[in-house]
Amino acid sequence: MRYTEYLLPTLKETPSDAEIASHQLMLRAGMIRKLAAGVYNYLPFGLRSIRKVEQIIREEMDRAGAIELLMPMVIPAELWQESGRWEHYGKELLRFADRKDASFCLGPTHEEVITDLVRNTVRSYRQLPLNLYQIQGKFRDEIRPRFGLMRGREFIMKDAYSFDLDEAGADVAYEKMYQAYRRIFERCGLKFRAVEADTGNIGGTSSHEFMVLAASGEDAIVSCDRCEYAANIEKAEVALAPQEPVAPGAELQKVATPGCRTIDEVSTFLRVAPERLVKTLIVQTDTGEVLAVLLQGGHELNDIKLCRLLGCNEVTLAPDDVVGRVTGAPPGFAGPVGLQLRVLADYAVRGMADFVAGANEADAHFVGVNLGRDCAVEQFADLRSARSGDICPRCGGVLEIWRGIEVGHVFKLGSKYSAALGATVLDDQGQERVLFMGCYGIGVGRTVAAAIEQNHDENGIVFPMPIAPFQVLVTVVNPREAEVLDAAERIYADLQALGVEVLLDDRDERPGSKFKDADLIGIPLRLTVGARGLKENAVELQERATGERRMLALAEAPAMVR
Ligand code: ATP
Ligand code: MG
Ligand code: MG
Ligand code: MG
Repeated sequence: MRYTEYLLPTLKETPSDAEIASHQLMLRAGMIRKLAAGVYNYLPFGLRSIRKVEQIIREEMDRAGAIELLMPMVIPAELWQESGRWEHYGKELLRFADRKDASFCLGPTHEEVITDLVRNTVRSYRQLPLNLYQIQGKFRDEIRPRFGLMRGREFIMKDAYSFDLDEAGADVAYEKMYQAYRRIFERCGLKFRAVEADTGNIGGTSSHEFMVLAASGEDAIVSCDRCEYAANIEKAEVALAPQEPVAPGAELQKVATPGCRTIDEVSTFLRVAPERLVKTLIVQTDTGEVLAVLLQGGHELNDIKLCRLLGCNEVTLAPDDVVGRVTGAPPGFAGPVGLQLRVLADYAVRGMADFVAGANEADAHFVGVNLGRDCAVEQFADLRSARSGDICPRCGGVLEIWRGIEVGHVFKLGSKYSAALGATVLDDQGQERVLFMGCYGIGVGRTVAAAIEQNHDENGIVFPMPIAPFQVLVTVVNPREAEVLDAAERIYADLQALGVEVLLDDRDERPGSKFKDADLIGIPLRLTVGARGLKENAVELQERATGERRMLALAEAPAMVR
């Protein structure tokens, strides 16, 4: 590819709305451009890297025996009603109606569609095991899309679904995918860890997330310094802190707290020590009732709980945010379950033995609130999250906390979807059996972004070779000098003949600005062709990662960089 015939719009300035390195660099290196919140154009240079990751995924999925297909992005509501998720998935599901007023959604994940396909096409145990995958655009109406491709609303995912006759078969399928994922992320040149994970919105019995280690990661991971134990903190808290039993006969008691609107005011008024403070979210239902949602633990835990509640990773809450739905009867609230909750304020304290929570009126709080008994919110659990220095639940070692980016996720689904949709086969006895499923996702764009998060310096991207848009950049120092341009063109042609992916920077620009762009776009190997080197029949080879340079004989250059 010749730069002068390409679309590679680099930016000198860091865009002000990009907070993390990968987002800034993907914009600056002309890889992506935003169309709407969380919706991006993949420019040619960015697309090449995306396609590299897809190719690695394809090869490893195929090698593991999975078969590629392609499902539609537009999904009829009936399928999601059949699984029950039309009701439960929440606002990340973008719903719409066609001209005949039939309801549809844009697929955020495809368990329903694939299960429907399999129930209609697979009849016998002889057709099993089966693992089907696609690489496709997904849509999730994320509450706060951010960080570029890291958390988009429209994004590319590889999603695979396995079908087996029994649990043992499903375990084998899961293990195969787990190993394929290890290979995929190794081949992408990432530093990652597989961690035990919560099953969240998808459901199922057990799961692992593949976490790329990065300070900017939205997830927290705990890992043991002695054994192999590693888990997402959402999951680790379950393992670490069993729920305290409910004290029988504990009574709700309403106390006056005149004028108290903030956590500090309530704590001062009720004289509860700061270390016993527990944040509570004061929320309003969509019918106008005010109630409290209790969130035990430190601020970070609250954030994590809410993330799970919201199905997103955002940590800040503003008044008016919708945060969940009532699934129990909260204190002072007699309305039906299923109502939406909107944040009014967040404050509260913990009393000596029980919770103190906002009451269903101004200037009063409830003392003795019991979470499980008096107040419940979907997916909420009363647990403490793991902290650095906690004891490992497996071996007694010490736990550390890391930040990570979730690039992949494997789930054992059991028969959740196959039972709901009636996906069965006949076994060798002629008996009808409900299928065992697994599902396996990888965020393709997020993987590229995570790789850049791990591989960059102050000058720009440092692409790992396997996912680099081009392998070699040939920079023509001054394309106006015919001899220099000629030599560069020859190298360019020779490299292409060898099957090397090469970008020829033939722009008529100052060498300084071309070198800056070269650093920014991060192609791993660089050949610089200039008049000075040519006098000695040589060109300079530079490695982007190390900055190391050496002169190569002109004739040997193509073979040497290969
Ligand atoms: P997150 O916790 O970051 O919201 P998730 O757990 O909701 O992700 P999954 O349902 O497990 O995501 O989807 C499989 C993979 O799709 C994720 O591991 C991630 O790599 C990718 N992914 C999910 N949401 C997004 C998004 N909004 N933008 C880009 N990639 C995403
Ligand atoms: Mg999510
Ligand atoms: Mg997740
Ligand atoms: Mg996940």
